[in-house]
Amino acid sequence: MKSSKIPFTLLPFILFTFFSCTKQPPKYIFYFIGDGFGIGALTYSEIVAKEKGDTLCFSQFPVTGLVTTHSANNLVTCSSAAVTALACGEKTNNNMLGVATDSIRVLTPVSAILHQKGFQVGIATSVSIDHATPAGFYAHATSRKGYYGIAQQLPVSGFEFFAGSGFLEPEPKDSLSIFALLAKNNYTLSTSLSQCSSSKSFKNILTQPEGKDVNQLPYSINKDKTDFTLAQITRLGIEKLGSQKKPFFFMIEGGLIDWASHDSLSYELYGEVKEFSDAIEVALQFYKQHPKETLIVVTADHETGGIFISQEGIRFTTDEHTGNIVPVFAIGASAERFSGLFDNTEFVGKFLWSVRESNP
Ligand SMILES: [Zn+2]
Repeated sequence: MKSSKIPFTLLPFILFTFFSCTKQPPKYIFYFIGDGFGIGALTYSEIVAKEKGDTLCFSQFPVTGLVTTHSANNLVTCSSAAVTALACGEKTNNNMLGVATDSIRVLTPVSAILHQKGFQVGIATSVSIDHATPAGFYAHATSRKGYYGIAQQLPVSGFEFFAGSGFLEPEPKDSLSIFALLAKNNYTLSTSLSQCSSSKSFKNILTQPEGKDVNQLPYSINKDKTDFTLAQITRLGIEKLGSQKKPFFFMIEGGLIDWASHDSLSYELYGEVKEFSDAIEVALQFYKQHPKETLIVVTADHETGGIFISQEGIRFTTDEHTGNIVPVFAIGASAERFSGLFDNTEFVGKFLWSVRESNP
């Protein structure tokens, strides 16, 4: 064989390497998780949006896919097992958070891996910061309900931005308060958007001011001017994470989609999906300024409410979660990896592959 000839078997590898090297890295990664946002809620929201003349921006993303959500021990996952899969790439049992099924082996979330690679990390939600979905990106616990123990792990993460309604158990008896612990670790706690925006600290936490419900931001349809929207939080997070000119990973949870679905509240449900979409719209505007370096992925941790559409309109068939598959939408650098049907454990590999492929 002549030495100048490329062996046929190597050709796919060479082509792959060539195309990989010409690709831009996803330097800015947005991971939007609609808690409980299944296909039924999506269908209902599309119908209502059309009636109202609204648009749900993510439904026009060029890449769509479907995701299976079962946990290690149940066809129907809870949010903590789901986020363990979505954040750490491994399934665990319901009620566990960031630990393997043996309840001993601690799993590492993609946020921590990227933080070590020099990414700034932001975690935002419309419920409490120590709730399962946001917690899965910075903490581990054998029970998702150990809120104080979860919040204690927040400063250890060193992540740059956190936002949500508040903390559920910030000051238990005979223990150091979470607020003292945060201050000790150089986190600046703000209770207004402007206060957080003008903070000179590298590590910021935004919660609602005292007197508001620590469990959640008010439902979108009940908000007044003093309440934060998920879009405002997303804008603030981008401002904070982007200020260091470093790459960033930003997880934003629409946590109340799930709550509205548990309680069969259709108006609230649409309001939360629209609020979630408006937050994604903020990321989309950022993407338009950095189209080759930004990746936006939108998905759900599970379906809630067993929602289907009948001739009479929306029907909630359960007040619990279901094992139905959920949608995924993606746009930007490496978005094509998120098409087709895949399992919720596969997101992490797709994020890390994209980053590794582009930053060898
Ligand atoms: Zn739920």
